[in-house]
Amino acid sequence: MTDKTPVTVLGLGPMGSALAGTFVDAGHPTTVWNRTASKAEPLVEKGARHARSAAEAVAASELVVVNVMNYAAVRAIVEPIAADLRGRTLVNLTADLTDRARDMAEWAAGHGINYIDGAIMTPTESIGGPGAVFIYSGDEELYQRWRPSLASLGGTHSHLGSDHGRAAAYDAALLDFFWTSMNGLMHAFALARAEGVSATELTPFAQGIGQLTVDLAPDLASRADGGNFPGEGSLIESNADSMGHLIEASEARGIDASVLRAAKAIADKAVAEGHGKEDYARVVEMYERGAF
Ligand code: NDP
Repeated sequence: MTDKTPVTVLGLGPMGSALAGTFVDAGHPTTVWNRTASKAEPLVEKGARHARSAAEAVAASELVVVNVMNYAAVRAIVEPIAADLRGRTLVNLTADLTDRARDMAEWAAGHGINYIDGAIMTPTESIGGPGAVFIYSGDEELYQRWRPSLASLGGTHSHLGSDHGRAAAYDAALLDFFWTSMNGLMHAFALARAEGVSATELTPFAQGIGQLTVDLAPDLASRADGGNFPGEGSLIESNADSMGHLIEASEARGIDASVLRAAKAIADKAVAEGHGKEDYARVVEMYERGAF
């Protein structure tokens, strides 16, 4: 069941448009506003109401969702209309840093605005479907009040804690994983192609390696959290040696190996500090110490 609470969406980039379109499809009276007004046209055709100003947009709904490029953009929109937002709930689904999320929450509290911080962990195409992933932080009671409306966006919705920075913390760490993994995959494609193996031919095997990383995560996480690195099975000294082979293989074919060199440098540092017979989760602590 979805309720049909009126919703305002501020920001109609690719993601904001997907959010607003999904609210419309779910039957919510949806009011939209964007700095560049023309982006509202497809949504108006779908049945959204286009407000001429951000102030007019927030006056239409108790629930206001903002999704723009970053928090500087959020502030540019909401600060001039703080009085219009008073007593309403602002759900900020824009991605940015933890401290900015906390500052935003403080600003909202100072203006009598109910504030939920959040992030979206999946692309625009997922919105409205089962694969969409939304995370939130801030007052849980407030979140629960609006959860049925937010559920209209599809997928899973998780409240991660009362500290407004929590959703941004998850978001940054997960995007860190995504982008470092993406670079590993792009580099693997380049290395394979240099040897006459197409990226497409490599892909089924690359998917297996991706799955292996996912499967190893719970064990590595418990070692990282517990500070216990028994080195069963695979040792950092051997891992560093393997990375050395990959650097050699890359450079022999003129492939840039800077990402691998950075990874090997941190493993080498762990070995130099006497951790060579421990397992790879030790590297988490090396990163934390800013070991370079
Ligand atoms: P962008 O990050 O490019 O944001 C575009 C939106 O920001 C537009 O509405 C734009 O308005 C607005 N904007 C930018 N600067 C300002 C400003 N100074 N004042 C007012 N409005 C401003 O596009 P997305 O829609 O892709 O992303 C929005 C957010 O969603 C980002 O935080 C992104 O990280 C996050 N996200 C996006 C995903 C995706 O797949 N696209 C996936 C997961 C999260 P205008 O049209 O007038 O330029």
